[in-house]
Amino acid sequence: MPAVAPSEFPPPFDAADVIGPPTDAEDERIEVGVAIVGGGPAGLACANKLMQLLEDEPELTEKLGEVPVAVVEKGKVAGAHLLSGANMKPSAMEELFPDLDKSEWPVYQEVTKDAVYLLTSKAAIPLKPMPPNFRNHGNYVTSVSKLGRFLADKAEEAGVYILSETAATKLLVEDRVVKGVRSGDRGRGKDGEELGNFEPGSDVAAKATVLAEGTVGHLTYAAYDYFDMHGADPMRWELGVKEVWEVAEPLDRVIHTMGWPLRKSPKYNEFGGSFIYPMGEDKVCIGLVVGLDYTDATFSCHDALQLMKTHPFIKKILDGGKRVAWGAKTIPSGGYFAMPKRLAVPGMVVAGDAASMVNVPTLKGVHYAMHAGMYAAEAIVDALKQDSVNFEAYDEKVHNSLIEKDIRQSRNMRQPFSKGFFVGGAIASAMTVSRGAFPGGHWKQEHDSEVEVELGKAGDMYVKPDNELTFNKLDSVFLSGNATRDDAPNHVRIQTRVPKEIAQPWVSMCPAQVYEIPDEQLENGATEVDVHVTASNCVQCGAITAKGGRLTLPEGGDGPLYQET
Ligand SMILES: Cc1cc2nc3c(=O)[nH]c(=O)nc-3n(C[C@H](O)[C@H](O)[C@H](O)COP(=O)(O)OP(=O)(O)OC[C@H]3O[C@@H](n4cnc5c(N)ncnc54)[C@H](O)[C@@H]3O)c2cc1C
Ligand code: SF4
Repeated sequence: MPAVAPSEFPPPFDAADVIGPPTDAEDERIEVGVAIVGGGPAGLACANKLMQLLEDEPELTEKLGEVPVAVVEKGKVAGAHLLSGANMKPSAMEELFPDLDKSEWPVYQEVTKDAVYLLTSKAAIPLKPMPPNFRNHGNYVTSVSKLGRFLADKAEEAGVYILSETAATKLLVEDRVVKGVRSGDRGRGKDGEELGNFEPGSDVAAKATVLAEGTVGHLTYAAYDYFDMHGADPMRWELGVKEVWEVAEPLDRVIHTMGWPLRKSPKYNEFGGSFIYPMGEDKVCIGLVVGLDYTDATFSCHDALQLMKTHPFIKKILDGGKRVAWGAKTIPSGGYFAMPKRLAVPGMVVAGDAASMVNVPTLKGVHYAMHAGMYAAEAIVDALKQDSVNFEAYDEKVHNSLIEKDIRQSRNMRQPFSKGFFVGGAIASAMTVSRGAFPGGHWKQEHDSEVEVELGKAGDMYVKPDNELTFNKLDSVFLSGNATRDDAPNHVRIQTRVPKEIAQPWVSMCPAQVYEIPDEQLENGATEVDVHVTASNCVQCGAITAKGGRLTLPEGGDGPLYQET
């Protein structure tokens, strides 16, 4: 089988299974006013804004009950599952905390210098003038896992209940009105059996539900099917692998690179680049982001990042340093055309990455997620005051905001790169200069899993880890703080007997070494192979959902414990 699309082998998963009516008796349900699913920038900005607005609404606060606002977060703490380049535009922080001095923000520094380089395997050529989408003056470098902890602390101080270590596994819907979420069971064994410490989940009944699940939203995508909310184009993603290094010499600028080790030819469709940001005087972060519509089944973002670090220009930045953190996560890259056609249905709104609110050419999503969370809070308070669960005003607010304006301007930027690096770059530059007007229209996109893959040679380029500069996947997962128990049920849905062309991309792509093809099948040249899944390695990056599988929700608290990503 020469080239095949992963979408031909769909995962055993039915979105209808995660939507249904409440099942707990009414007096056993946990009643909250607003249930926010996801303690990321979108969900936590929403929670903070809700509390600020409720200060002036005693009657509504009373109506919302003992727990007016709850955030359901699957990570061990808020921030545990957050990862970003985290070069943040300050507009949302300024708006959310107008009286807070910037010296109190959880940031490393303001960006005052930046540079972009085109890498060949030996050289780093500065791009001058710098492509406008890479200008970052006035932005702030932060760590989104620290930002999450900060926003959660602020929310708790204001009276929000943060239910961490809790996965929202079902969307509660009655008569096509969203009524809250159900939390997942805890203490099940590998085959789903109840262990000694078993605790069933609970219905969390809410007057308003905010889905702020981030990239690859599990309940969100089920809701898009159920309520027919899908946008004009399917969602698509890029995968980012990031490391934090303690370094000997401070870095004085924000750096982006394009080119090597990604290959330029259109046939590989390797679109992406790196970010290298200073984190104060003694740390830097480095990450590589690559679109998941590449065609070589042996491509691995983690290993491409390891290779990239051996480039003389990058090695010099890391020389004498020590890797202190690692993680991986996807970014939605479908942009404007992948945004859902409506952001609100009765009882529910969607905000942030879950709704494709990312500007791919500028690699920005944090401030859009936060602005969206704040708009959601405003619309929810206005509606609930009238005893209504119609939150359509939120849709309107986003349409008229910088979120939609910016993302619309870059609506066709990602697509031309399927024509190769140089042609794509030229067309994207024309789009940037003309603010999206030229060439306008709608360049159609397909789901990453529909792109055919074949066994190529990317895997041959990668370096053997030396454990000083370059590292293997398993040691990296260890550094993510992942402590998922080995006997947890498998939360990754894939077909486990597939052609090698389908299995190999999963093995290579997964930064956490979750998938393996048995050695004897690799050696005997089997065309159909088994895929073994070690789900406890999973760092919930979401890439498998892009490439033909489905990431579902593990037990609350499982997965990475990111501190500074
Ligand atoms: C490698 C990389 C680099 C990036 N660089 C930048 C950058 O430099 N600047 C920038 O502005 N943006 C950047 N982004 C994008 C930015 O990080 C996101 O746009 C932003 O984090 C989105 O916020 P969010 O709240 O929508 O989602 P997230 O940050 O993904 O947060 C979602 C939260 O919801 C939780 N959750 C999800 N589902 C459930 C559930 N069912 N139950 C309970 N909890 C749940 C998750 O655990 C998570 O904590 C980058 C992203 C990546 C991956
Ligand atoms: S198994 Fe987990 S870590 Fe691996 S690709 Fe899928 S979501 Fe990412």
